[in-house]
Amino acid sequence: MERFSKKIWLATPTMHGEELEYMKEAYETNWMSTVGANINEVERIAAQKAEKKYAVGLSSCTAALHLTVKAAGERLYGRPAISHGALENRRVFCSDMTFAATLNPVVYEGGIPVFIDTEEDSWNMDPVALEKAFELYPDVKLVVYAELYGFPGRIDKIKEICEKHGALLIEDAAEAMGATVVGRQCGSFGDYSAISYNGNKIITGSAGGCLLTDDKEVANKASKWSTQARENAPWYQHEEVGYNYRMSNVVAGVIRGQYKYLEEHIERKKMLYERYREGFKDLPVKMNPIVDETEPNYWLSAMIIDKDYMCRQVRDDSNALYVKEKGKTCPTEILEKLASYNAEGRPLWKPMHMQPMYRMHEFVTKSGSLRAKTNAYIKGGIFDVSMDIFERGLCLPSDIKMTADEQNAIIEIVRSCFD
Ligand SMILES: *Cc1c(COP(=O)(O)O)cnc(C)c1O
Repeated sequence: MERFSKKIWLATPTMHGEELEYMKEAYETNWMSTVGANINEVERIAAQKAEKKYAVGLSSCTAALHLTVKAAGERLYGRPAISHGALENRRVFCSDMTFAATLNPVVYEGGIPVFIDTEEDSWNMDPVALEKAFELYPDVKLVVYAELYGFPGRIDKIKEICEKHGALLIEDAAEAMGATVVGRQCGSFGDYSAISYNGNKIITGSAGGCLLTDDKEVANKASKWSTQARENAPWYQHEEVGYNYRMSNVVAGVIRGQYKYLEEHIERKKMLYERYREGFKDLPVKMNPIVDETEPNYWLSAMIIDKDYMCRQVRDDSNALYVKEKGKTCPTEILEKLASYNAEGRPLWKPMHMQPMYRMHEFVTKSGSLRAKTNAYIKGGIFDVSMDIFERGLCLPSDIKMTADEQNAIIEIVRSCFD
């Protein structure tokens, strides 16, 4: 097979033309600012699509998540002293297998992430492990949950657990816009939720995010915090710390144009996923799980290799090595082979409890808490699902501009790793 002359990417923006019209409108009306018609429209559409009352347009999903944890902290524990975070020294239960941006904001506010193991059947936070964590720490009042790759777990059940324990739920739906659980939109389950318009997401503004909530007071507060926390006075009056987190009206123009194509993008992502599933159906692999009563947005197609077909692979903090064995492979081999053909795959998110920065933080599996975590994933019979999936899994090229021929070639490359 030949090397791709044009690189096959993991996921890149797909533009349609209307985006440029709305950007031009911002330019021609001179609303080259963080106010304007595009932002108003994005907030209206975002709230409507996600089935929430309010959306606040922000510079990124990370900014949105920061303001959600700040709002949650203040509601739970009151407004902190000026130099303190709203979650100062409070434990917060967080998804383990996700992008660091899901939970870094907990740390911005002085909180202590406690990581909750992943459920094998959904690749999302394990509700059984979450129950276990509430047994260990009944005082915890906040859960931060992320949907993985646009394939939701049963966040409705997670929400029930939170309600039972009087905890607030923050939903990081950055990867899951347009996906549904029991007929409800991802982003609608959290007391506060966040979505992303980053360049590789299902729709994009090049950057940007929204905070979503049904709480008018929180929406107003987030909007105020995002514009340097100015008080209502003729001069710059400040009662609390603020941020410069507002969405640009030019970026909002791109997002406004993209929203019309959300359903089409999901449809095309679904076709990619199904072609992969068909192409791999006789291989010892599993694609992202689709949980009963959920409809994914299929953002990234990913797969894991069955245990018996994994060749030996070791990873340290920056390198990976493997030993080739006949009939067996591993993510490292597949990713290197894809790269040699000029195609981009990616390892799954490295679990947060294995990140150097969070190594000393607690990690709760369905069997209990685990502190000494290095290489602990089968130690003492406590099974670490996050690490197991990380070791065996990878994201496949999922760019919706990839042609059927290109995807078939990718499938052949992956298949050849099992020779
Ligand atoms: C992309 C992503 C984010 C961050 O989004 P930005 O808009 O880039 O800040 C947060 N959480 C998850 C799960 C993501 O995939």
